[in-house]
Amino acid sequence: MKRIGILGGTFDPPHIGHLIIAEEVRETLNLEEVWFIPSYEPPHKQKAHVNSETRVEMVERAISGNPHFRISTIEVNRLGKSYTFDTMKALTDENPDVQFYFIIGADMVEYLPYWNHIDDLLNLVMFVGVKRRGYAFKTDYPILEVDVPLIELSSTDIRQRALKNKSIKYMVNSGVEAYLKEKHLYEDR
Ligand code: ATP
Repeated sequence: MKRIGILGGTFDPPHIGHLIIAEEVRETLNLEEVWFIPSYEPPHKQKAHVNSETRVEMVERAISGNPHFRISTIEVNRLGKSYTFDTMKALTDENPDVQFYFIIGADMVEYLPYWNHIDDLLNLVMFVGVKRRGYAFKTDYPILEVDVPLIELSSTDIRQRALKNKSIKYMVNSGVEAYLKEKHLYEDR
């Protein structure tokens, strides 16, 4: 079986926390690739601040340069609410030779009981949890825990900094930083 990691998210915008956890889990679990899947409409939180085309562009810029990272536009192409179960059902049907490892931060670990079709989803993928400041990582589900450097960053932080014209250098990679500036994303307009 091929071993592929999945990092689903809103990526509003993608930051180095996403990249570091993906790379660390890939290396620790010996995954061939990690696929980044931007959601169209996240079921569990408010709508994204920028449209899906823009978030896809930012993810492409964020992952460029890592030959193990890929993007899947399955959720933005499907439109509607992006339930992970629907996505992983489609991906496992299309890729019967792959074991998927679905990477989530501790905030999502705590939220797992509320995921759509969580019991069926647990049969489709192996969940991999990573720690995140402010979240206890408490769960009754059988998930793998991978130790990663604690990165105290969120997309919310980046948006707030952009709004205040504060530097986001090194918090997002340089391609994403240039794109945010060029398009004036998240700025006060
Ligand atoms: P927002 O601040 O807008 O809620 P976010 O920073 O949580 O966004 P998402 O795109 O929603 O970013 O996150 C995608 C996945 O990456 C989630 O599973 C989330 O838990 C995880 N993640 C994001 N940032 C970190 C981080 N700094 N440490 C650990 N996990 C993270």
